[in-house]
Amino acid sequence: MHGKTVLVTGGAGYIGSHTVVELINAGYDPIILDDFRNSQPWIIDRIGEITKITPTFHKVDCQDEIAVKEVVKNYPNAIGLIHFAADKAVGESVEKPIQYYQNNIGTLCTVLSAMKSFGIKHLVFSSSCTVYGDADTAIVTEESPVKEATSPYGDTKITSEKIIKYNSDAVEDFGSTLLRYFNPIGAHPSSLIGELPQGVPNNLMPYITQTAKGIREKLTVFGSDYDTPDGTNIRDYIHVMDLAKAHVKALQYLTNTECKSCVTFNLGTGKGTSVLEIIKAFENVNQLKLNYEIGPRREGDVAQIYANAEKAKEVLDWTCEYTLNDALKHSWEWEKGIGE
Ligand code: UDP
Repeated sequence: MHGKTVLVTGGAGYIGSHTVVELINAGYDPIILDDFRNSQPWIIDRIGEITKITPTFHKVDCQDEIAVKEVVKNYPNAIGLIHFAADKAVGESVEKPIQYYQNNIGTLCTVLSAMKSFGIKHLVFSSSCTVYGDADTAIVTEESPVKEATSPYGDTKITSEKIIKYNSDAVEDFGSTLLRYFNPIGAHPSSLIGELPQGVPNNLMPYITQTAKGIREKLTVFGSDYDTPDGTNIRDYIHVMDLAKAHVKALQYLTNTECKSCVTFNLGTGKGTSVLEIIKAFENVNQLKLNYEIGPRREGDVAQIYANAEKAKEVLDWTCEYTLNDALKHSWEWEKGIGE
């Protein structure tokens, strides 16, 4: 391929794979670094089916600095690196804090060190709205305060943001974007790639689709006594394809403006949807009934949070193109095809 080279750690994962598709569609040449610990090698072939271009991949543990440098040294002309490789389950992080710090902080340090060694100046980083914790307002801007984390996972994101800021100050000409994701759902409209949770899903959407498919008996709604209109939690659910496009825009912003600082963006739709609203919309759009019950609250959940994403709109010229119904339909179509 002859596009501009972009390194993508965790490029076979859920958000990573959709971003690789969008990078190829935008004419880039993505190089994937992934050890498939939480993804599958056949996702790479599926990306090839979608785009007609199978991206180059290197099976490498991003905690392994020597191995990462062996790969990165082959791409001195890479215009940037998008860093997805990380552990992401809040509950698991409470059980395995050391694994989370080693992996999430370890891979970031390795990647930054490799970028420095080989002169790669632009980083796009996967952060999370979890950094806002139990925010004072339901709608948050990038200026809303970062709160003390309530899980090791959340703390790795807050700490990673700090590391990247310090690195931006310390390394000449280093530009970065911290992308604070809200709740990614949906799948590629082709149903060839999507989310592949390992074991029992923690997140709402894969739990819903697995319940609809009969893999799980019923969905438990975690609490209906919150201070929200229907008593269930409100979140900002964003289609993974819109999120993927935002990464391409963030990379273009860094390269076009020759950005030399660290810039934060919220990536959400700006709309809040309750758990019960998600269930009803999923049933309507897919013409099925979901087995669910109201259960107790889950520890650590905040009542409501959604994005003010005006900054991404203004600075990155990015807005969401898919609707919530598109996302609910695509999640279900993907689930139905898994294992076939
Ligand atoms: N949720 C639920 N049942 C589940 C999983 C999640 O009611 O089996 C709720 C959860 O309490 C939260 C929302 O769905 O209000 C989204 O949770 P998820 O874990 O997907 O994302 P989070 O917002 O916690 O990052």
